[in-house]
Amino acid sequence: MIEASCHCGAVRLTAKAPPAEVTECNCSICSRLGARWAYYSPAEVELPRAGATQPYVWGDRMLAFHRCRACGIVTHWQSLDGAQKRMAINARAMPGLDWNGIRVRHFDGAKTWEYLD
Ligand SMILES: [Zn+2]
Repeated sequence: MIEASCHCGAVRLTAKAPPAEVTECNCSICSRLGARWAYYSPAEVELPRAGATQPYVWGDRMLAFHRCRACGIVTHWQSLDGAQKRMAINARAMPGLDWNGIRVRHFDGAKTWEYLD
């Protein structure tokens, strides 16, 4: 089990296991956020209480980026398509995470939509 939380603690998520790898993306939103995304199946994650976050949706409207209504920290994104096969937690919001041995991958979301490693 690993917990992610916003700065003020109003938003908390729990995932089944810590990530083995995280992704840094250079797209217009991820580069601004400085997030390191840990991907999960929604079934593996306990989400924050409804209403604790404010979603931000843009562009092709595929994802909703959730930020705490009080402190503004972006804790996760969720897919808006019906299938919902994947979501991501901002691993930088996992205070207990041991970064030793976690692979950091770089994704070119700005141009080629491929991993750079
Ligand atoms: Zn907060």
